[in-house]
Amino acid sequence: HRIGAKLRDIEFLQFHPTALKLPGINPAPLISEAVRGAGAVLLDKEGRRFTLDADPRGELAPRDVVARAVAAADAAGGAWLDARAVEDLATRFPGITAMLLRHGLDPARDLLPVAPALHYAMGGIQTDLEGRTTKSGLWAVGEVARTGVHGANRLASNSLLEGLVFADRAGRALAETLRATPPATAATESVGGRDSGADAECETIRQEMRNLMTANVGLQRSEASLLLAERELDRLTRSTPAPAWRTHNQLVVAGLITNAARRRRESRGGHRRTDYPPASLKREAV
Ligand SMILES: Cc1cc2nc3c(=O)[nH]c(=O)nc-3n(C[C@H](O)[C@H](O)[C@H](O)COP(=O)(O)OP(=O)(O)OC[C@H]3O[C@@H](n4cnc5c(N)ncnc54)[C@H](O)[C@@H]3O)c2cc1C
Repeated sequence: HRIGAKLRDIEFLQFHPTALKLPGINPAPLISEAVRGAGAVLLDKEGRRFTLDADPRGELAPRDVVARAVAAADAAGGAWLDARAVEDLATRFPGITAMLLRHGLDPARDLLPVAPALHYAMGGIQTDLEGRTTKSGLWAVGEVARTGVHGANRLASNSLLEGLVFADRAGRALAETLRATPPATAATESVGGRDSGADAECETIRQEMRNLMTANVGLQRSEASLLLAERELDRLTRSTPAPAWRTHNQLVVAGLITNAARRRRESRGGHRRTDYPPASLKREAV
């Protein structure tokens, strides 16, 4: 961004609906969609399958739908994944079972407390289908790139595929480009610097930024929440010492996402504006 590469679609963020919610565990481990696919259901504090209120597909509705339903249930008292009826859970999901046991939860016996967690960025540095960005000499591959293949809402497991496919394409295109026009000198521009130790002093600021983004630029946004986030991010930027460049970079990214979310006045995929409901909800309201 600072050197002039174009970013695109950075307002589209995907939340995983079922991260294990335990105090002090950050990042929260995920309980894969496959467990819901195998029959686990989501229950609220009354033991009701609340996802059916949001979508007839229930637990298997798209990630953004289930994530919003889980967030609402969590805010109203809690959301739990009930995998007790899944047959052969321990043999079908040995990694998840071991992770849960490490946290003192037995999925064959216990309800599993869950909440949504930020999972994937659909947008990023705009590239063509061979990894070229809009800045000559800069290439991007992987989650940092916005190739367009994920649209507004990535399908599960497609990012590893994207990494494989586009790394291969970019590697070939880069080799071709270098054969045709070898660079005169190596690039020297840098947006970072040596670690000054200043970032270690800014944990409170980063925590405030995380809370601010979760509350105002998370699963649901509105003009008011986004304006508030922009103002607060400015304040946090002013209170961050210049040598804390990692924290400054994170604040820049948070600000760009917030601004992009404010400029997109519609709901689409991973970007839900409460003040611009999706067309399907508007039709229902008529
Ligand atoms: C919990 C979890 C589960 C997931 N499960 C799946 C899944 O099942 N299927 C799927 O398709 N996707 C999944 N994803 C998404 C997928 O893992 C990521 O999109 C993918 O790993 C991105 O790969 P990447 O190489 O682009 O970036 P990364 O894997 O983030 O790699 C970037 C690397 O760059 C390094 N780096 C950063 N800054 C610097 C620097 N300044 N100098 C040098 N190195 C630096 C980092 O340390 C890191 O090693 C999951 C994501 C999460 C968080």
